[in-house]
Amino acid sequence: MLKDNFETVEKNVATACKRAGRDRSEVTLIAVSKTKPVEMLREVYDAGARDFGENKVQEICEKYDQLPSDIKWHMIGHLQRNKVKQVIDKAALIHSVDSYRLAQEISVQAQKKGLTIPILVEVNIAGEESKFGISAEDTIQLVEEISVLPNLKIQGLMTIAPYVVDAEENRLYFRQIKQLSVDIKNKNIDNVSMDILSMGMTGDYEVAIEEGATMVRVGTGIFGARNYNTKER
Ligand SMILES: *Cc1c(COP(=O)(O)O)cnc(C)c1O
Repeated sequence: MLKDNFETVEKNVATACKRAGRDRSEVTLIAVSKTKPVEMLREVYDAGARDFGENKVQEICEKYDQLPSDIKWHMIGHLQRNKVKQVIDKAALIHSVDSYRLAQEISVQAQKKGLTIPILVEVNIAGEESKFGISAEDTIQLVEEISVLPNLKIQGLMTIAPYVVDAEENRLYFRQIKQLSVDIKNKNIDNVSMDILSMGMTGDYEVAIEEGATMVRVGTGIFGARNYNTKER
């Protein structure tokens, strides 16, 4: 059943790419597996998924040890500075950098381990109070500040669009963040590429792909609804 879900989402991704005149290889589908048990991840892995998204450090660490090593783990949740050192050698990409202080801690820990860590800067594109992320206005300055830190590489931007019933309502936000990434790219800042745009979730990933997403993060559409009543979180 999870295999069917994954294949349906995969097909929708391919169709959206086609509609937008993009190659399927331009978009990475991340299976967002937070709160889900490893057996379910294994099913989706067997269906072909190799990119998994988690929002808690402890959960990445536990699942990392139990699942195949060719999985790329994406840290997509708010990251506390005191947990950076546990996750930096496990996450293939940290999507949720939204402050200089967090970037600085990642840089310090990366230097200790002799790693260069790819990161995205999280932008709160709709300015929602309930969400993490830096405002669109402050993004360029933050990118410039972070770009000089050693052992880090800014590879793009990430956003969590508002929860909407009609995905079309988010099209404007996706366009705005795409434009912001183009503006940053045009500044040619050393050590900054804008190759990645992580946007689009179960409700709106197809629209996000049409507007330039290179990574979509799909949880519910693959794994089903999450149950938050357990002590997992
Ligand atoms: C949970 C989560 C998702 C997946 O959301 P769905 O609506 O279940 O697809 C995507 N991105 C982030 C940052 C999340 O925390």
